[in-house]
This record gives sequence, C-alpha cells and structure tokens, in this order.
Amino acid sequence: MKAVKGKFFFGGVHVKDRKFLAKDAPLEELPAPPEVRIAMTQSYGRPAVPCVKAGDSVKKGSLIARADGTISSDVFASVSGEVTDVSELETECGCKDTFVTIRSDGRGEEQFMPPLKDPSPEEIIKRVRDAGIVGLGGAGFPSAVKMQPRSEVDTLIINGAECEPYLTRDYRLMLERTDDIVRGARYIAGALGAADVMIGIERNKPDCIAAFEKYDDVKVVALRKVYPMGGEKQLIYSATGRKVKLGQLPADEGVIVNNVATCLAVCEAVELGKPACEAVLTVSGRSIARPANVKVPVGTPLSYIIEQCGGEAEAPKKAVLGGPMTGVAIKSYDLYVKKTTSGLLLLSEKEAAAEEPTACLNCGLCADNCPMHLMPMNTAFYSSAGDIDNAVKLGGTMYCIECGVCEYVCPAKRPLIQAIRNTKAAVRAKNREGGK
Ligand code: SF4
Ligand code: SF4
Repeated sequence: MKAVKGKFFFGGVHVKDRKFLAKDAPLEELPAPPEVRIAMTQSYGRPAVPCVKAGDSVKKGSLIARADGTISSDVFASVSGEVTDVSELETECGCKDTFVTIRSDGRGEEQFMPPLKDPSPEEIIKRVRDAGIVGLGGAGFPSAVKMQPRSEVDTLIINGAECEPYLTRDYRLMLERTDDIVRGARYIAGALGAADVMIGIERNKPDCIAAFEKYDDVKVVALRKVYPMGGEKQLIYSATGRKVKLGQLPADEGVIVNNVATCLAVCEAVELGKPACEAVLTVSGRSIARPANVKVPVGTPLSYIIEQCGGEAEAPKKAVLGGPMTGVAIKSYDLYVKKTTSGLLLLSEKEAAAEEPTACLNCGLCADNCPMHLMPMNTAFYSSAGDIDNAVKLGGTMYCIECGVCEYVCPAKRPLIQAIRNTKAAVRAKNREGGK
C-alpha cells in the first residue's frame, strides 16, 4: 500500500542520528561464545525462577527458568552444553540478579517447540507466552499479556521508527526480514482480532518504506524524523491521530504497538517453535573497530561481542548498553546480553561530549520539549532534596517514558534521567513496602 504521511506531535527534538556508522552492515550471526550467563530478569515485572542446577545438560531452547506470575517471562538456554553455575551477579544498573551460567559444548543442539500450522488466536497467544517473548523495543513487557488487552483493539501498529541515534538493528531487520515481520504482525493482529495493520517508519528510511509498500494488507505511514517518534503515544498519534491520555493504555484507544523485532520473534515462535533465546543488536560508535548488526545468544558477554567486532579502535569515553538517549552507561564489559538488548555503543571523546552539570538555570527548556508535557526540572529538584511525593506530584514523573529529550536539551547538563529513574525506583520501593 502506498505510504501516507504521519501527523506531527508536540515536543521532541532533532538529534544527529549517526546511523551511517552501522546502517550498511548486514545482519550477521556471530559464532556462539564458549560460555553464556543468562539473567533471570529478562522482562518488565518479576524475575524468572531457575529450574536447572549446576551439572544439568541443556540444549538451545531448553527451559531454564519459569516466569514468576503473569508479568514475568520464561527464560531459555541459548546454547547447548552444561549448566555450570546458578548464582547472583551485578547487572548494568549496579543491582544484583540471579544468572544461570552455561558452558557451550559447541554442538548447537536445539530443543524447540513443534511448529504451528494455521493457529487459532488462543494458540498464538499461548505460543507467545510459552516462547517467553517480550517487547523488544526496549520496555520488555511480556507480549502475551499485551495480546489480551482489556479493551477491543482494531489496529496493530508495527513500530519501525527506530528513532534512537546509532541504532540500525530494526533498519536491517526491515530490509532483510520483511516477509517474516509481516507474517509475525499478521499472527498478532489475528490473535487480537485487529482488522488493520500499519507500520510506522521514519522518512529517513525510504528503502524500508518501499519494502513494506508491496503488501496490500499493511498500511505504511512515513513519519517525520524527530525524536522520540518511536514512543508509543507519539507513534499512535502520528500514525492514527488518536490521543492516548495520561494514565490510559494504547488499547483504550483501540491500538496495540509492537516493535519490528517482536513481530519477527512471534513469527519464529509460531512457524519454527523457537523461544526467545537470541538477541539482535547494533554495535556502533567511533570507538569500535568494526560497527555491525549482530545476532547473538542471550547471555553472550559484551566483551566477546567487542572482540568479534575487532575490539576497541580507541579507548571510548563512554560505553552505553542500548541507545544513547534511553540506554544505560556501563563501566565494564563483564555484562551479558538480554532478550531486550538493542545496542552496544562505544562512544569516542567527541561523541560523548560529556560536560559537568551546573546549577539549573530555570530556563524551562526541558518542560518545553517534553513530549509527555511533564516538568522534569521539578522531579530533579525535589528528588535531590529527598521529597519523593512532591517530585512525583509536581514533576509528573510516573508518566515519563524516559525518552531522554529533557536531558538532551538541558543547557546545564542536569542528570534529569537519573533523577527520574531514582524517583520511580523510590516510588516502587514504597509501594512494595505498603503491599501495593
Ligand atoms: S520528562 Fe520523561 S518524557 Fe519528558 S522529556 Fe524527560 S525523559 Fe522524556
Ligand atoms: S532545561 Fe535544564 S537548566 Fe533548564 S529548567 Fe530544565 S533542568 Fe533547569
């Protein structure tokens, strides 16, 4: 279907996208590492509970941990071999998580589920749950839960915006796995009972737009290139004109959004019986010798990926897991890929352009550009004073989508995202104590 133009949304910023570094690198499957360490927290919600112990033999696709409740996801071995350890390690956020360590036997034996032929909506949802699929656009929300919304849904939007600078994983998937993404989207739409399937793609990816225009049952929306176009609410408004209000879910407006990588994972789970045991990510930045888009087993050490991409071209000023706007700065490469990992960036001195924060200038630029109409300077001010109630009340913190626009535009380089994440963590801890 010929592409139509998307609408403008309030706020957002124009960022240098730096995608030229990796966009022409075709998807590449790296050889499996000798050892993987798989975290039990692989989704939004509770960590999974390990069901293997040291000495157990596993194949790629064997269940190694069970979801703990509805908002959690099953976890699978990503290589064949022997479980050598189940213990706690530090994660990229500095907190502890349980990891299952598997020493690969190099045989790559698989244990997948049987493929489904002409599945019913119920069978698709069950397969998505059994495959441990979570949203791969970043949030990691269990996909099967999203496929059973509380309101009727008429539209599925495939999120192909990929507005984060540097990241080109979705770009390559859209070019190289177009058919699989569309089939995955059809399964999701079928399970939801959604009559319309749309894909939103930023206008700076005309080759991807052309690739999807050939499907009669997919409406292509060419989106303005502005950050955060890939935010759910921003994408829904741009593609359909529907406004998801604060506190509402997309389904309340009849829409569900799924990232292109999630659609692909659903296709592979249905047609191949493959569970979520691999991740595709972009490795980029001036400080990596060979920028690339790679497929690796979940649990692959970051140090191994860097080595496979030629090592450091120069000592990076900053390393980031994810994209530069929403990712997490990391201090070590002794960390491990998760289902949701979309990028690993090694940024040079010039790219990182790190500056020391100064006092807030009360310029209001952070609020003026916030696509969610929030007051991030209030969150930062009150949270630094330990006044979490006012931080939330006057900053609107709990509606923040952590897009990073406020910090990007702040002339004083205030660490606004950190303040927002700290405030949300404090609220969640308080709710847990209160049993909410
Ligand atoms: S307050 Fe949240 S939603 Fe608003 S710009 Fe900052 S990170 Fe984005
Ligand atoms: S943009 Fe930065 S300096 Fe300006 S009000 Fe917001 S936090 Fe303060």
